[in-house]
Amino acid sequence: MKAYCLNKISPIALKGLKAPDTIVDDIAKADSILVRSQAMHDMELGKNILAVARAGAGVNNIPVEKYASEGVVVFNTPGANANAVKELVLCGLFLGSRDIVGGTEWINQNKEDAEIGKTAEKAKAQFAGHEILGKTIAVIGLGAIGLMVANACVHLGMKVKGYDPYLTVNNAVKLSKSVDYCEKLEDAISGADYVTIHVPLVDSTKGMLNSKVFKLFNDTVLLNFSRDTLVNDDDLLKALTSGKVRKYVTDFANPKVVNMPNTLVIPHLGASTEEAEDNCAFMAIDELKHYLENGSITHSVNYPDVACGPKECENRVCVLHKNVPGIISKITTVISSSNSNIGNFINKSKGEFAYSVFDVDGKVDEDGIASLEGVIRVRVI
Ligand code: NAD
Repeated sequence: MKAYCLNKISPIALKGLKAPDTIVDDIAKADSILVRSQAMHDMELGKNILAVARAGAGVNNIPVEKYASEGVVVFNTPGANANAVKELVLCGLFLGSRDIVGGTEWINQNKEDAEIGKTAEKAKAQFAGHEILGKTIAVIGLGAIGLMVANACVHLGMKVKGYDPYLTVNNAVKLSKSVDYCEKLEDAISGADYVTIHVPLVDSTKGMLNSKVFKLFNDTVLLNFSRDTLVNDDDLLKALTSGKVRKYVTDFANPKVVNMPNTLVIPHLGASTEEAEDNCAFMAIDELKHYLENGSITHSVNYPDVACGPKECENRVCVLHKNVPGIISKITTVISSSNSNIGNFINKSKGEFAYSVFDVDGKVDEDGIASLEGVIRVRVI
């Protein structure tokens, strides 16, 4: 791996690189790119660039479809910042339960008071709160973050209800047995003292917390560390005013929300920890190395995930191609025409793109494969 960094990447992760893997300071000498937030939409990549890894989850700074059509695999690092977000959600849970923010603001406003200790004792009643022990929390979305939040809340002595219609087997196994898994959103929310949402923002989830759902709330604290438009702001304001929502704690500022009552807005600090940045960088580097060294794709956003294992043949032929009928037989015909044997073969597709890996003993006509219609890039390892 000869990676070029478009942004500052965790020095701890870069320090762990061992020769021949290295960071280069000239993009023309690189085979891959590590990026965080740098916008890449106007950037033309040279033919030398085989892959781009985003140290983070969102990829809206990267033209993923365009790069797919140019044979550049784009990776992201889902879940690498999950613990950082989980910890801030727990912080939000406590901030939503005890009026620590109100109390510290009061202290700041009364700093000049020479008798501040005594005055505080008299004033503190207005900042009294609730304990979370034995209270019920509904966790909506049990992916990387929701799963950790649900399990942590069990450990804090809460009754935890979970809702995720697409819960993966992997996550189901990791979910604490004490979590009451609900088939319906309504069942999870009804009777909950706290609701926390951890779903992706897509068309079907946009505004999913709206007046219909807020009817089921009752003096409930709502935590949103996912995306602000999962919540319908106008309906939220009504729910805050009526007391259906007691407090709204969110990681996302917008002009409406910052002016709402009983709302605590954090400036998107969920993943802002040094550890999360290190984890993302370690994961991004691993993804690039595995792809460049043995052709395996893990956590790509524009090509399918394919685990090939270490190479145990003469030539591993990695072909990025269009997902069109007949293309695989054309590739195998070219390989067989050199009298070579295909020992192993994997093919997976993702939308209009596909990836095929052939483990071959014998010669490979790389140019012959590259010239086939629908083939985007061929690499022989
Ligand atoms: P993930 O993909 O691991 O998990 C999302 C889960 O939501 C999946 O299990 C999926 O099945 C579930 N889901 C999808 N639609 C659902 C629905 N309609 N109802 C219930 N569940 C549904 O994602 P993640 O890493 O856990 O991230 C969750 C959210 O956190 C995302 O919106 C992400 O943007 C956000 N996030 C925020 C920060 C931050 O800084 N605050 C940082 C990272 C991620």
